[in-house]
Amino acid sequence: MQELMERARELVRGCGNILVFSGAGLSTESGIPDFRSPGGVWERYDPSDFYFDKIVSDENSRKKYWKMSSEMYSGMKEALPNAAHKALKELEEQGRLAAIVTQNIDNLHQKAGNSNEKVIELHGSAFSVTCLSCGASYKRDMIEERLRNGEDAPRCDKCSGILKPATISFGQSMPDEKMTRAMVLASECDLCIVLGSSLVVYPAASVPEYAVQAGSRLLIVNREPTHLDPRADMVINDSVTFVVPFIVKP
Ligand code: NAD
Ligand code: ZN
Repeated sequence: MQELMERARELVRGCGNILVFSGAGLSTESGIPDFRSPGGVWERYDPSDFYFDKIVSDENSRKKYWKMSSEMYSGMKEALPNAAHKALKELEEQGRLAAIVTQNIDNLHQKAGNSNEKVIELHGSAFSVTCLSCGASYKRDMIEERLRNGEDAPRCDKCSGILKPATISFGQSMPDEKMTRAMVLASECDLCIVLGSSLVVYPAASVPEYAVQAGSRLLIVNREPTHLDPRADMVINDSVTFVVPFIVKP
């Protein structure tokens, strides 16, 4: 393992335009469960309840969705960045970070000190809420307060439209502008580092695939194997808080 880590550090050291692609596994050691590991969210809830069409068309699903989502949000609000998030801030300070393309909605990259312009939140943010009809935006804490006071499927103050956390659900379309930016950066980077992602959620997972196609090197740090491992220059199956601080040291 030590030799593998040394080689990964050499790989990172030799690159100056690094694109990080992060997933829920980056934040498990900050106390936020991922979806697919044992003990993950999908062991307690049925994902088929949370397809976008169902949330929109069926009030009962929407109530269940808010319940699951509020539970996750309260954990995210309290969570602190871990050693891996902090190491990515160092990578930005070294001037070698192109961007962090994240599937996470937990705000931990920003909490760790990475600048807003460097963080592309492909799946949105749990910290705000949007009206699906008029697009009005609300602070999440304000809506959580209403939920605590007895609302279970809150509606927009302005137009009575359906409110939903500003995150992308299954079957909901992705923001084109963010995806395009991520793809452009993927086509330009010299190294793409995948951190804590099962790489099964599309179109997000096409970002590292595209980077490799465009000639970038690929380093994957994930506890479990992924389908992209055969195309990676290096794969480390270990914890991100153990590996990332070590490999970004100059
Ligand atoms: P995933 O749950 O599908 O996969 C997480 C991967 O990380 C797994 O393969 C697991 O083995 C690995 N992992 C877990 N802890 C790790 C650690 N400490 N070190 C190294 N590897 C670790 O997550 P995904 O690929 O991000 O896709 C799930 C979707 O869920 C995303 O779209 C994301 O938006 C959403 N999500 C986000 C959060 C969050 O914001 N923190 C939490 C749960 C789910
Ligand atoms: Zn509205």
